[in-house]
Amino acid sequence: MPELNNIKNFTRKELIEWINDKTKSFSKNHAFRANQIFLWLYQKKVNSFSEMKNIGDGIRKLLEENFWISSIKKIETKCSEDGSRKYRLLLEDGHSIESVFMPHKNHNTLCISTQVGCGMGCDFCMTGKMGLVRNLETYEIIDQVLTIHNELSEKQRLRNIVFMGMGEPFHNYKNLMQSLEILTDEHGLNFSQRRITVSTSGLIPKIRRFGNEKIKTNLAISLNGARDEVRSKLMPVNKVYNLEGLIKVCRKFPLSSRRRITFEYILIRDLTDSIDDAKCLIRLLQGLKFKINLIPYNSIPGSKYRSPTKEQARKFQKYLLDHRIVAPLRISKGQDIQGACGQLVVKNSFGN
Ligand code: SAH
Ligand code: SF4
Repeated sequence: MPELNNIKNFTRKELIEWINDKTKSFSKNHAFRANQIFLWLYQKKVNSFSEMKNIGDGIRKLLEENFWISSIKKIETKCSEDGSRKYRLLLEDGHSIESVFMPHKNHNTLCISTQVGCGMGCDFCMTGKMGLVRNLETYEIIDQVLTIHNELSEKQRLRNIVFMGMGEPFHNYKNLMQSLEILTDEHGLNFSQRRITVSTSGLIPKIRRFGNEKIKTNLAISLNGARDEVRSKLMPVNKVYNLEGLIKVCRKFPLSSRRRITFEYILIRDLTDSIDDAKCLIRLLQGLKFKINLIPYNSIPGSKYRSPTKEQARKFQKYLLDHRIVAPLRISKGQDIQGACGQLVVKNSFGN
């Protein structure tokens, strides 16, 4: 018997092809069937094929013989004083991942993971300290959204998805793209491409490739240092893809008229938070369409780095604002529950 595949690994196009292949003999309207199945999975969010009432017996049997429908288990929810919630979700193989829900006045954002751990080894990041355990399957990326979506009230509807949880999304490129297709499919989860942001540590060939994709989400780049010397110390990826190459690929990145690249910049006391650093940053990004998210460093246990003072963070921000740069200072959400940037970690693969 063939191993069952997870149906949420399939884009709608792939499902149409699959049905096409299997049912030539008894169904002509394959696209319509795939649309119905997607509706059940992503809008009605059913967990079994038997609940798909308007799917004919023949196809339903085929689906049951070839696929399974996953659902992810929540094993822990931590609520922060600022309203954000960190979820620990259990995967089939016993590993767990984390997703963070962040409420805002008029929009809610979900931060999702693409890997268990991360192999990029950034020195300031707790997920990086875990190393890479494995890539997530497409369905595991999608299930984070479905699971958390399910427990929100109508008023808390999710509007934004950010790929800023555990992992380097571009190291799991294929599954990232599959999940983006399902997330933005009008028969799938129907998120606007403009409301999704994929954040990378700066893998140049993948940034180039991403720019040529049909799906156009927002791109964020974790910059964190404006000089190679500092960035290489913080992010080993910079030794392979340095700032010159990174900025060059950003200059060529296709952006529609109202879009810009987001650069994430961690303010670390006495390392990246001086006015000289701000000057360097402005010089580096000159001529690009961009904004800078300033993130005061969140301390992680045993770290040699320190958070900036509030005054210094404000001073840095003011310098950028005075140079007409959009530079929100992101006071990290969920710091008290270790759900803030770079604080996502699962102590061991079974979460103990
Ligand atoms: N791996 C991807 C996406 C997830 S990391 C990437 O690096 O872009 C999400 C963001 O958290 C990154 O911008 C990273 O720079 C930031 N971050 C990691 N550790 C942090 C820490 N200790 N304090 C503040 N920000 C941190
Ligand atoms: Fe990985 Fe991003 Fe953390 Fe770097 S900052 S180790 S790329 S998750």
